[in-house]
Amino acid sequence: MSGWIPLSVDATHGGADPRLAGGRLTIDLAALAENYHLLSRMAAPARVAGVVKADGYGLGVGPVAQTLWREGCREFFVALPEEGIALRSVLPDATIYVLNGLFGAEAVPAYVAHRLTPVLGSSSDIASWEAFGWDGDVPRPCAIHVDTGMNRLGLTSDEALRFIQENALTGAVTPLLLMSHLACADTPDHPLNLRQRESFQAVRAAFASVESSLANSAGIFLDSAFAFDLVRPGIALYGGSPASAALNPMQPVVTAEARVVQVRHAKAGETVSYGAHETLRRDSLLAVTSIGYADGYHRAGSSAGVPLRDTSAPAAEGFIHGKRVPVTGRITMDMTIFDVTDLGAGAVAIGDHIELFGRNVPIDEAAAATGTIAYELLTSLGRRYHRRYVGFSE
Ligand SMILES: *Cc1c(COP(=O)(O)O)cnc(C)c1O
Repeated sequence: MSGWIPLSVDATHGGADPRLAGGRLTIDLAALAENYHLLSRMAAPARVAGVVKADGYGLGVGPVAQTLWREGCREFFVALPEEGIALRSVLPDATIYVLNGLFGAEAVPAYVAHRLTPVLGSSSDIASWEAFGWDGDVPRPCAIHVDTGMNRLGLTSDEALRFIQENALTGAVTPLLLMSHLACADTPDHPLNLRQRESFQAVRAAFASVESSLANSAGIFLDSAFAFDLVRPGIALYGGSPASAALNPMQPVVTAEARVVQVRHAKAGETVSYGAHETLRRDSLLAVTSIGYADGYHRAGSSAGVPLRDTSAPAAEGFIHGKRVPVTGRITMDMTIFDVTDLGAGAVAIGDHIELFGRNVPIDEAAAATGTIAYELLTSLGRRYHRRYVGFSE
């Protein structure tokens, strides 16, 4: 891909030399592009914006945003003004919405300097944005966030209606977008989905000439009536399942693998890892890998000795040479041990890599087995993996 501007040392390749890193991440930008087009077909005629907060969900905002732009995406959402500034250096012409609010009057000059569009969700933020004055003879653009049931950010419906009436008289700002956020989109039958849509519709009627946006990834899969003018997927672009129960239609984008640094024989009756919670039931072959909870492979995925194991799914599993291999014992900060006995002696060698999630272990399964969701798995990956981007042409 031409014209990349790496945002950090490891935005285009890993901080670590591949020969020296404890694990590697492969990020498939062709799969990202495919996911963007699948969502575009589903949401049409609504446009698809790219939600690239938290460094593109941990994948690297530079390569992610440039791929989406190349595929036709023109609107982007980040959480923080700093993220907006970084994204502006990559995409000079994109519309960049900043979700978390304005951060007060002191932050306004940064928004103006980098042409960031704030998502205003409180009266005080609206007042700060109005006070900064017009840009030439055009009132400054913004999005208006109305809360319809999340109780996180956003004006109440009454405040939003009052705002649009006053703004019609003063013309103090230019609302480009009216938005709200769904609390339960990943639970299609939840009654709050319809209630939120109805509250949103009611406010929308007063914002006659303003475009509107309600759906995140899961919202796109609810019903076309949730799409409005612009949808805001994040996790589905990156390969996570947009609906909890349904089959995941998205292409996997990220593969995380852990380097095998030792293969050891252990005897039946011996224990493995901290706390000695895992006792081997047979003579075993153990592959020790150089990835741990400091790399976002959460400790809750341990086979024993963590609260999750008393309540739910089996331990996390890796994949190597065509077979699933379970985590054995506790996951530690920098190392995770897998039971590779079933592959037989000699099958797994030092320097091999065990897939933690990717094509063979779905990301949502790895997340569930480690007590979390794909969002947290991706945003916890950290800085120690070697990263490589594939699936783009120069
Ligand atoms: C993070 C976020 C999104 C994207 O959500 P996904 O579930 O990842 O698709 C959309 N809208 C808002 C307001 C968000 O905070």
